[in-house]
Amino acid sequence: ASLFSAIDMAPRDPILGITEAFNADTNPAKINLGVGVYYDDNGKVPLLQCVQKAEAKLMEQLSPRTYLPIEGLAAYDKAVQELVFGADSAVIQDKRAVTVQAIGGTGALKIGADFLKRFSPDSHVFISDPSWENHRALFESAGFTVNNYTYYDEATHGVNFEGMLASLRKMAPGSIVVLHACCHNPTGADLTQDQWGQVIDAVQQGGLIPFLDMAYQGFGAGIAEDGAVVRRFVDAGGPLLVSNSFSKSFSLYGERVGALSVVASSAEEAARLLSQLKRVVRTNYSNPPQHGGKVVATVLATPELRGLWEEELAGMRVRIKQMREDLVAKLAKAAPQRDFGFVREQVGMFSYSGLTKEQVGKLREESIYAVDTGRICVAALNSKNIDRVVDAIAKVL
Ligand code: PMP
Repeated sequence: ASLFSAIDMAPRDPILGITEAFNADTNPAKINLGVGVYYDDNGKVPLLQCVQKAEAKLMEQLSPRTYLPIEGLAAYDKAVQELVFGADSAVIQDKRAVTVQAIGGTGALKIGADFLKRFSPDSHVFISDPSWENHRALFESAGFTVNNYTYYDEATHGVNFEGMLASLRKMAPGSIVVLHACCHNPTGADLTQDQWGQVIDAVQQGGLIPFLDMAYQGFGAGIAEDGAVVRRFVDAGGPLLVSNSFSKSFSLYGERVGALSVVASSAEEAARLLSQLKRVVRTNYSNPPQHGGKVVATVLATPELRGLWEEELAGMRVRIKQMREDLVAKLAKAAPQRDFGFVREQVGMFSYSGLTKEQVGKLREESIYAVDTGRICVAALNSKNIDRVVDAIAKVL
């Protein structure tokens, strides 16, 4: 027997498995609603104008490919802080926030998880039920026990808020709570501002460690609106971790651009935290890649490009909202026996459609691919494919 002969086959990634099946499908009318990617009305992943212009600018001043600092490009980390906390934030002025560039939002979560495991090894981690499927695996791979907190209510297609609060109040002090800052993946069900206030109170009173995951800033109500919850946590005081990603908001999926920010209680404490975060990065991949970070930093720091980005991001946000409206209106006609109005209230790229696993299976026979849980990517609908999706859903109900 070889060294590796006893190794089992790992389970397939549920979402990437859908893409594999989709790619193998020869039906030219196939539609992939399984992925978490924004497509434009022509079914293409956009290459944003602001990105193209920033890249053109970078091409004019080509620079040698030296290593970046362990914590990443300084201009990038600064731009991230200003975006995430607000340019006028006291935590920036007081140097209480530290930010490290990360390999996408996933990398940011992993740096945060490894960091927390060193300094709060006995904490349990709590993720929403359900959550992005990688949250559990990520924190478990860092050595944590991962539990769920109550979140989604199938009956209302919204948040079971009383249940969520009850879960928070039961957690032991020092527990790590992973919260979706906006555009909850996979359900599309977000908290109201009032509910956030109550969550912040519960986190404070329970001595919990909040870890905000913000992968979709700008896809909900707007850049500042979606980031408001971060500022409210900062104002409440206490430790805070924030992972953010530019995969969606800059349509830079494959460049892997994200960041982890941590708020400390003083500048002196922040310096110690940064030194430890750097240690985590150094022992994982040493330092981050340059290109994506340079593009994002250039866009965010150049007023003309920044304005363009805000417009383009608004364009994506508005198109998704339009698809929600159209889906609800068209389903009301095609399947009047069922109320899909909740799809309009959901936020971000996804909708928990309420379709069962069996119904998703039947959709697949029509070459329409969704996740077994009924999650569909609204951002993959467009004016050309929506009628076929609506007809197929009406047929499988
Ligand atoms: N968190 C959530 C909630 C996500 O949905 C995603 C991406 N699907 C990520 C983190 C990871 O983002 P990235 O692709 O930038 O690693």
